[in-house]
Amino acid sequence: MSVVTRFAPSPTGRLHVGNIRTALHNWLYAAQNDGRFLLRLDDTDAERSRADYADAIHADLAWLGLHPHEEFRQSERFALYDAAFDKLRAAGRVYPCYETARELELKRKILLGRGRPPLYDRAALELTDAQIAGFEAEGRTPHWRFKLDHDAPIEWDDLIRGPQHFDPALLSDPVIRREDGSWLYMLPSAVDDAEMGVTYVVRGEDHVTNTGLQLQMFAAMGAEAPAFAHEALLVGSEGKLSKRLGSLTMDELRARHIEPIALVALLARIGTSDPVIPVTDHSALLDDFDFGRFGRAPARFDEEELARLNQQIVHMFDYEAVEAGLPEGMDERAWEAIRPNLHHMGEVDDWWQVIEGPVETVSFDADSAAFLDTAAATAADLDWEGEPWKALTASLKERTGRKGKALFLPLRQALTGRDHGPEMAALLPLIGKERAIARLSRRR
Ligand code: GLU
Repeated sequence: MSVVTRFAPSPTGRLHVGNIRTALHNWLYAAQNDGRFLLRLDDTDAERSRADYADAIHADLAWLGLHPHEEFRQSERFALYDAAFDKLRAAGRVYPCYETARELELKRKILLGRGRPPLYDRAALELTDAQIAGFEAEGRTPHWRFKLDHDAPIEWDDLIRGPQHFDPALLSDPVIRREDGSWLYMLPSAVDDAEMGVTYVVRGEDHVTNTGLQLQMFAAMGAEAPAFAHEALLVGSEGKLSKRLGSLTMDELRARHIEPIALVALLARIGTSDPVIPVTDHSALLDDFDFGRFGRAPARFDEEELARLNQQIVHMFDYEAVEAGLPEGMDERAWEAIRPNLHHMGEVDDWWQVIEGPVETVSFDADSAAFLDTAAATAADLDWEGEPWKALTASLKERTGRKGKALFLPLRQALTGRDHGPEMAALLPLIGKERAIARLSRRR
């Protein structure tokens, strides 16, 4: 059986790293098994769903290289949900309820007050035709619950959590449809997973109870249930569920020059027993991806770890990988010269300017100024085809007696306007003879 996974975000907000992690694991599992990865927009909530959020979901997934094989929108599939609803209703698995929200709240409070679990009492199943007619006459319209089968224990072998067991008698019959006919998440999702032939549902552990309920829906619809993997949640580096993670969007990471592959590499491994490894390509993550290696403890997402990994990955990029985004005129030699100094790609322009100029003017004492005059004269006579930095410093050492920092630092400062930076041996040929002489001769 071929693998079909899906990522099912609601377009009611921007994706954050937690969502992306779920999307990635679905993508990885499908890719590893030559399967299909579906994108399903859970947009049944017409009021909260927005086109710009849907656009942003597409853009974020594309940025991360997680391309869906096919896309669906729940708002275009209401006929399917209606048909499933009608069948379940005819089979007595869906029933109308007339309680108001206040009445339900009161029932809950009473049960809780008695120290009992706040389960729905199924009072609606006992209503007489006359009572129902009475409610309808009052203008009440029903909401609808799915009737759990209390005699069918709920069990599955979770790919991450292992064997799971729920007693359906300890769960409330879930509301699946509101008074106004709109859908809650539960049934449409099960209908879609069945209809789309989804074989693996990978999502956060906040959905474990939903899975129990949905397994009974699959059975009631006569559909085969997919396998399930429920992932432990993501926490911040301090080990707590953090607001920050819930609002850390791809825009923010992009603005901080985090490479998509760095985020992918980190999210593929945190929460597993495997080390995070720097890679430059998604395919390098496929072989070791295994739900069995995910633990039940929360996965720690550490922004500093991401920044370090990002730097390691940038240092692995070859010219072809970055060429398209480099400043005009920057060739392979220049890329290789500055690459070791980058924390992230946002610093490329800066170092390119150190090569191309203008560079900042540094002021020197009289001694160093005289030394730089000698340097300028020496530079004019150098063989620039060979190794100009080696030749320049060797000759200056001999002519001036300077060595170490006294020799190198003023040269670097005059040539680059900075105290630190890429190897001068790599930079100087890129700066070139003319610019080098001009920078060495320039004084404040
Ligand atoms: N739209 C649901 C959510 O974002 C989908 C959950 C699922 O994967 O089934 O929580």
